[in-house]
Amino acid sequence: MEEEVQVDQNFPLFSRKTKPATRKPVPTPTSIEETPKQLDKDTNSGPTPSHITFSDLGLAGWAVQTCNELGMKKPTPVQYHCIPRILSGQDVLGLAQTGSGKTAAFALPILHRLAEDPYGVSCLVVTPTRELAFQLAEQFRALGSCLNLRCAVVVGGMDMITQTKTLMQRPHVVIATPGRIKVLIEQNPDIPPVFSRTKFLVLDEADRVLDVGFEEELRAIFQCLPKNRQTLLFSATMTSNLQTLLELSANKAYFYEAYEGFKTVESLKQQYIFIPKNVKDVYLQYILSKIKDIGIRSAIIFVSTCSIISM
Ligand code: AMP
Repeated sequence: MEEEVQVDQNFPLFSRKTKPATRKPVPTPTSIEETPKQLDKDTNSGPTPSHITFSDLGLAGWAVQTCNELGMKKPTPVQYHCIPRILSGQDVLGLAQTGSGKTAAFALPILHRLAEDPYGVSCLVVTPTRELAFQLAEQFRALGSCLNLRCAVVVGGMDMITQTKTLMQRPHVVIATPGRIKVLIEQNPDIPPVFSRTKFLVLDEADRVLDVGFEEELRAIFQCLPKNRQTLLFSATMTSNLQTLLELSANKAYFYEAYEGFKTVESLKQQYIFIPKNVKDVYLQYILSKIKDIGIRSAIIFVSTCSIISM
């Protein structure tokens, strides 16, 4: 017997539709059948078959051409599995590693729908950091280059009056960090109506956005979005928050998890050094001063907060 699922009405992450989407059917990977289960998990999340191209996924001609012009000849697995689902109106949770083509997996079907009905803010993308917001905007602009796409980035550390004016002009796509969009929504009564016809909510790096620290921000965002929007969550790691969310999903969200052997980053070698906190910076500085000797030209340092250390 199926268990009754309780959904927090104030935290409706996945959309609830009373009837299935009536859109034109698009081909889905043949091995995946709709099941009456709540969690529509893809059991065959393997590679893209060699004959499959972007046009086989149901994307418009202009989108296929743009992909070709950008050197994207063939869909990556996350794109092959998720694009048809998004086009058919399903909510999606996609787990795939960085560099797998996740961004295009949601941006392409969103832009495809946007081209059909370009009125208002069609899509709100929420991402945890400013850097990611700008990177996402770059990809949206490249993929939507032939649509005269208006894409706004709304992140902290920038002028709020300018951001309010930009939002009032109803760009097609808004890419925001949770804190800044919450402030704008709450401080100006003209902002929530800007999102009244939004069709897609994307949480990129969803594991981090769903972190408890962003719960209030997410509540503010959900309150101004239509209930029948599509929700797309993409993440490189599965966390208990995402797992709970999947279990609570009253809708048949489609869950894509990259093939077996999935790693957060392909070919990543991880090592750690356990050292006292007070000498951490010195060690870091020493390691960075030595990387050239072992043939490494550059490094990325991931931290929770930034402060400048002199080298
Ligand atoms: P992402 O995982 O979204 O960060 O994408 C990583 C990089 O892969 C981006 O620079 C994309 O332009 C590129 N990319 C995305 N999809 C494809 C594809 N189907 N073929 C070749 N490159 C792609």
